[in-house]
Amino acid sequence: MQGLFNRSTATHFHPSLSLRVDALTGNGWLYPPSHIPLVYNRRMMHILPIPPSGPVRATFLARPNRFIVRAETPVLGVFDAYMPNPGRLRELLLPGATLLLSPTAGKQPFVVAGVERDGEPVMLHTHWNNLVARRLLEARLVPGLEDAEVVRAEFPVGHSRFDFLLRDPRGELLLEVKSCTLFGNGVAMFPDAITERGRRHLEELAALSREGRRCAVLFVVHTPRVSCFQPDYHTDLDFAQTLVAVRRDVQIVAASVRWNADLTLDETVRALPIPWPRIARESQDRGAYLLLLRLPEPRRIDVGGLGTIDFAAGHYIYVGSAMRGLTARMARHVRLRKQYHWHVDYLRARADRAEVLAVRSSKREECSLAKAVGTLFQAGPAGFGSSDCDCPTHLFYCGAAHPLDQRDFHGLLERFRMRP
Ligand SMILES: [Zn+2]
Repeated sequence: MQGLFNRSTATHFHPSLSLRVDALTGNGWLYPPSHIPLVYNRRMMHILPIPPSGPVRATFLARPNRFIVRAETPVLGVFDAYMPNPGRLRELLLPGATLLLSPTAGKQPFVVAGVERDGEPVMLHTHWNNLVARRLLEARLVPGLEDAEVVRAEFPVGHSRFDFLLRDPRGELLLEVKSCTLFGNGVAMFPDAITERGRRHLEELAALSREGRRCAVLFVVHTPRVSCFQPDYHTDLDFAQTLVAVRRDVQIVAASVRWNADLTLDETVRALPIPWPRIARESQDRGAYLLLLRLPEPRRIDVGGLGTIDFAAGHYIYVGSAMRGLTARMARHVRLRKQYHWHVDYLRARADRAEVLAVRSSKREECSLAKAVGTLFQAGPAGFGSSDCDCPTHLFYCGAAHPLDQRDFHGLLERFRMRP
């Protein structure tokens, strides 16, 4: 505590102020008689349980499962670290990315606190997100909730538990906080993987609101490089549609924060607009998709009307669309047992891995998407999946590396998926 005090700060004390030191973080807070806290430390936000020397920087190698990442440093060699974020994070955890680790007493010696993207840290620890939210609330920095004070964290209501019970001049307010690390093209999106639990929370808040409670959801976006927030209707259509449906009952707030290189939180917090008309229009079960397939070995495949074609081993991307029933179409492509109808069905049958990425849109974008994929990867057989359009092909060969391990491919996805 002593070290946090410097002379110049102390000279600003008013006799009526009292000092309170946060037991968890060691940060000091000045409380005026009205009990409205003032932040005295301009770089106020040394709030994460990270040593004063800052996080340990390591190179990301792989993610063997949801909870473990493999990392490397010149001193420590190769080791596993605990990943406290269940999201997919594919655009952040690219091979060679710089991880920001903190020592921990757990089974693994380190926990992943964050990762650098384009040289700037993104905080990844989902449990620490509530430390961030709490400190922003206490510093009156959450847009639209500047008057609210924290009454209690982890507040139970019925069978559910919400992150915070707040109180402002209008009364009590339930707050649920979400951590958002998915962004690109100036747009922040949530979630990056389907979250049935998150969707249920929204419905519970809406139901409580109809019973007379005030409810809010706060999306904390861990980058300053965005100018708006949208639910990720490409990845989780149900969540997006639910968010649109509950927004009249539940206050929805999105705010971006900025992390310094040492994972202290900058004081810059910005309210992010949420373009509801655009979100409502685009959160529909229609648009284009990218089917990612892997052939484990070279195969000669009979592709119906196209004849017999030799395919190299490796990853392929097929571009298609369904302006109705997109979810069902995507599920059909991933399923193995079915009648062969499209060219890609023949290739799918020989692939050992299949995953599909939606690019939902109210406009037909299949062909412009195929053209964009063609700028990154090699064109596949002529006429493959493009019998009804002028494109040379809708199949592309990516070689041995998974497309989702490639920065350029994420850039393409962001251009098509993240529209301001
Ligand atoms: Zn086309």
